[in-house]
This record gives sequence, C-alpha cells and structure tokens, in this order.
Amino acid sequence: MRYLLLAFLLFGTIVTAQPTADVLTGKSANANNSLESDTQTALKKMQTAALKDGIKIEVASGYRSFDRQRQIWNGKYKKYEAQGLQPDAIFDKIVEYSTVPGTSRHHWGTDMDLIDGNADYSGSVLVTDKFHGDGPFCKLKDWMDENSSKFGFELVYTMNENRAGFEYEPWHYSYAPVSKVYLRDYLTQIDFISFLRSQEIMGMDQISNERLTRYYKEHIQGVNPELQLEKE
Ligand SMILES: [Zn+2]
Repeated sequence: MRYLLLAFLLFGTIVTAQPTADVLTGKSANANNSLESDTQTALKKMQTAALKDGIKIEVASGYRSFDRQRQIWNGKYKKYEAQGLQPDAIFDKIVEYSTVPGTSRHHWGTDMDLIDGNADYSGSVLVTDKFHGDGPFCKLKDWMDENSSKFGFELVYTMNENRAGFEYEPWHYSYAPVSKVYLRDYLTQIDFISFLRSQEIMGMDQISNERLTRYYKEHIQGVNPELQLEKE
C-alpha cells in the first residue's frame, strides 16, 4: 500500500490526464477559449525568456472550437462550390491550409500560431514570407529555431519535401509533452470517418472514404516526428 501511494505521488502529477473524445475533437465546453493548462504554463516561461531578447511572443490563434472550425470550413466550402468545383476537389483546396472540423490540433489547446508583437508589420500575419528573408517575424523564427525545444515547443508542419499533408507553416507550434499524448489518443480513440459523417459539415456526405483516409494519413499522422510518440 505504501508503495502504491509512493507510485501515485511520483507519477500522479507527471502523467497528463487522458483527454476525452470531446476534448480531442474540440466539442468540449471551453468558454474562455483557453489553452491547455500545462501548455499555458510552458508558454509563459518561453514568453518571459524571449522578451529578454526583445521578442514579444504573441498568440495569433490558440484554442479553436469545433463550431468555430466548422464555420471556417463551411464558408470556404460554399465559396468553392459556387465556383463549380466537385466535392473531392473542394476538399483538396480547403485542406491545403485549413483543417476538417474535429481534426484540428487547435482543438486540443496545445497548439498555437505565434507572431512577434514587437515587430513592425501590416496586413495578414500568417504568411510564410513574413518569417523568412527580411520579413518582420524573422527574429522570432530564428529565436524559436534556437530555443523553442528547450521549452517543449515544436513546429508541426515543417519545411520538408518528404512530408505530405499541410503546407509548411513557420508560425504553428505545439507543446510536445502534452500534444504527443493527445495525438496518440486521437489516433486510438476516435473513429475518424464515422465521426466526421455524423457531424453537420458541408460536403461530408459526398467526400469519398478514400479521400478521407488519405487526409488522415497525410494531414493528421504526417506531422513532425518530434510530435509522435511512436517515433521515439
Ligand atoms: Zn495553426
């Protein structure tokens, strides 16, 4: 008994609580749109460190609910449908940069799009050029390349031509200690196709199983190996 208690004290605080299916698919109540708590704590530490180097790390987009993602999805779907595209072609267009509702890593509260609040910028912020060359967020990008891993943060959609799925996103980071567990749980707990078909998501009654299965492999499983438990 004493050993059981000791084991609990040792591991009880380390093991992250298992996320429910609602948390994994963005359907849980999260009225404040807050980040997952360990992620928030780690982000604060990283923000404090970066500020000493003159970089003000700001979250342009953090937690996003299923409903919000569905609004984005349906808006784009209608636009492409009006242009005369067929369902699978519309799907291809949208998933270049946007996720199918219920499959976004932003649902987990472990992932976020980051910019530098101290930089001088205008217009859209999540643009690759702004993070490269002499773009306004280059200082942030260099700092993150050097330091983000020390705080547990990794790029998800890396610049790697062998990686299929989403385009390169130099702004999208994930808190690996928690999101690795969430990804494993997502892959083992969620019956992906039947979940999507049961939601009111535009086009989901017409997109082929084959296309959805490829999305699952490329977009959901095909992330930076640093964020995959089984690759360790
Ligand atoms: Zn993102």
